[in-house]
Amino acid sequence: MIEIQQCLVCGAEKTNFKFVFELSDCWLKVDNIKYKIFQCQNCKIAFLNPRPDDMELVKYYTNEFDKFYNTTDKDLIKKYSFTLQKKYKLLPEKKGKILDIGAQKGEFLEYCKRRGWTVEGIELTNTIPNPYNLPIKYGNFLDINYPENYFDVITLWHVIEYLPHPHLIIEKISKILKLQGLLILAMPNFNSLNLQFMNAEDIPRHLFFFNLDSISFLLNKFGFSIIEYNYHSGVHKNSISGLITFLIKRNILKMDKEELLHLYHNYPKKFENIFFKIIDRSITLPLRLILPYLKKSHNFYIIAAKN
Ligand SMILES: [Zn+2]
Repeated sequence: MIEIQQCLVCGAEKTNFKFVFELSDCWLKVDNIKYKIFQCQNCKIAFLNPRPDDMELVKYYTNEFDKFYNTTDKDLIKKYSFTLQKKYKLLPEKKGKILDIGAQKGEFLEYCKRRGWTVEGIELTNTIPNPYNLPIKYGNFLDINYPENYFDVITLWHVIEYLPHPHLIIEKISKILKLQGLLILAMPNFNSLNLQFMNAEDIPRHLFFFNLDSISFLLNKFGFSIIEYNYHSGVHKNSISGLITFLIKRNILKMDKEELLHLYHNYPKKFENIFFKIIDRSITLPLRLILPYLKKSHNFYIIAAKN
């Protein structure tokens, strides 16, 4: 286990860390170790403390985890066309060199390549296939050498929350991006309703938890200015109906939080049919429309330019 004594982002001492909640691995239930989440009161970044070291983390990435994130579908571009299009719209009009960190099978890079971008990827897991035969390097981003002032755009789609050294990642990105190059990050929102009322987070795989304040603090520290952010990008598929069910069972039926979160994360397939989705989406529409304005949505993205 590794214990953080000083905030990695702002350098505040341990006395500035405020305990928020504790939780074990409610999704995959690899073990019952309870991890504590603290938030730095200065820059608002939250983190597991202590957290598993790299060796201890390996056991939490089970086959079930791989299955969830590694679809066997052949045509990924078709399957994810809606999401890919939304991501692509965030890129600048002028095409150039793009690096995707946590590239997985490369469907986003392939989507960009077909539209004229020069693409490169980096992926930690070398067992993930590369169906589009793209220039994807395998290993730790921090260990790989890139030329300075090289990329026009660097993207991390739901990656930064898994990384043990987010500050080193942003520092390195600030070196290899061109001046006025863009960094695009999407991540879960630590201020979301799901987090505040349910503590619904993927513990201990997610190590750091951001809100707009903390990610902005980190980006500003390494010479970025924020040019855009948005909370609309993705409400968790069962976030609102799941939240309401959770609150009733937790507060009225007094059920155990971790058991409820296990059910929430392992959302029954029967609720994924179209009929249920239509009813669910209609009932929860007003709340889903308000959430982004309250900055309480499940996820958000931020675009920053290197100064
Ligand atoms: Zn801090």
